[in-house]
Amino acid sequence: MRLTKSFLPTLKEVPADAQIASHRLMLRAGLIRQTASGIYAWLPAGLRVLRNIERIVREEQNAIGAQEVLMPTLQSADLWRQSGRYDAYGPEMLRIQDRHGRDMLYGPTNEEMITEIFGQSVKSYRELPQSLYHIQWKFRDERRPRFGVMRGREFLMKDAYSFDADYDGAVISYRKMMLAYLRTFQRLGVRAIPMRADTGPIGGELSHEFLILAPTGESTVYFDAALEQQDWLAQSVDFHDPESLGRFFKDVTTSYAATDEMHDETAWKSVPADRQREGRGIEVGHIFYFEDKYTRSMGVTVNGPDGAAFHPHMGSYGIGVSRLTGAIIEAHHDAQGIIWPESVAPFKAAVLNLKPGDAQVDEICNRFNQLGGDAVLLDDRDERAGVKFNDADLMGHPWQIIVGPRGAKEGRVELKNRRSGERLDLSVDEAIERVLL
Ligand code: ATP
Ligand code: MG
Repeated sequence: MRLTKSFLPTLKEVPADAQIASHRLMLRAGLIRQTASGIYAWLPAGLRVLRNIERIVREEQNAIGAQEVLMPTLQSADLWRQSGRYDAYGPEMLRIQDRHGRDMLYGPTNEEMITEIFGQSVKSYRELPQSLYHIQWKFRDERRPRFGVMRGREFLMKDAYSFDADYDGAVISYRKMMLAYLRTFQRLGVRAIPMRADTGPIGGELSHEFLILAPTGESTVYFDAALEQQDWLAQSVDFHDPESLGRFFKDVTTSYAATDEMHDETAWKSVPADRQREGRGIEVGHIFYFEDKYTRSMGVTVNGPDGAAFHPHMGSYGIGVSRLTGAIIEAHHDAQGIIWPESVAPFKAAVLNLKPGDAQVDEICNRFNQLGGDAVLLDDRDERAGVKFNDADLMGHPWQIIVGPRGAKEGRVELKNRRSGERLDLSVDEAIERVLL
């Protein structure tokens, strides 16, 4: 793709109101623009990142057998009156009236709606378990929207909901989600540590928040470093086998990890001192089991083997898809800009044409551009080399292929790795092989 034909507006100035690195970099690299407090438009490069995150989230949800649906953003207030949450939710809920004066709302979450959809169609225990998810915009009128997309008012969430016949079934659904989450975050290039979270009146151990370590995080976290060293993608957990899932869950939960709300000093002291990690964390996901809270309050039942009706047990499982864009940048940047993990980068490589108009340089650049297709961004602007270097560093492409007149004469280019800073002098074919094949 040619930069001269793209909409990739970078900013030289540091936006004054952006307090944290990811917010500044998302504005400067042209990923987002604010349109109202806590509400953002996604520009082409930002949307590419968002779509890449969604794709990985989706693949890992599908891999554990969850089914994708798409529920609307607007919901009827009556649905929420059934569960009793319409009044309980408070000022975070955006309440709207339609032209007939009917109360509506912009969904802050979807437990009620999915419970109703499930209840209309599932009548027998034989149709359980079910796990449904969607990736949809939410609105929460946060008291203090801040840090860009990290705490927005309109934000993109993956939310999943499981329905099981009983507690034992719900435990299996929960463990599958935990597995999917750990794999998802690792593929996104971040270490999200699962931490015991508050279960409210339900109790038990089935509530975990996933936090990425970053100095700008809103929570204080304590965890055993053993959790950082695990390779979840290399582990062979059979999600069809409850025992395999059980071993995996034990493995995850025996290491200490808690946010300050759940922190237990006595248990913390038993973690060897050289493995104690304490810091700030950004919450990027939350999984939660809540018995039959919604099926009971909304009167949803299915028939058991004996013909008697019962309320299925549910869990809900969120991932902050748009928040992750910021969180990934918090974990991967330097003074020059973003350093994207390859799995989410808007472009895999930038080709920097240092002398547009030079026949040999243009020819080599065009070759990379054609071969690379959508994965490559060709900087063909009539600008100084310094401007191109700075913009490429700012935008964080994993690779930069630098094509100048001297090297081009000999059919050679420079390949720079954004993360390590390593530079290699390569032939055009070698560079193609390294980056594009
Ligand atoms: P928080 O404590 O950060 O407000 P929450 O407990 O309200 O989060 P959930 O209701 O569990 O969040 O939502 C699931 C996920 O959605 C969260 O883990 C987080 O990643 C993301 N999320 C929640 N609120 C926002 C927001 N205002 N902006 C962006 N992402 C959000
Ligand atoms: Mg919240």
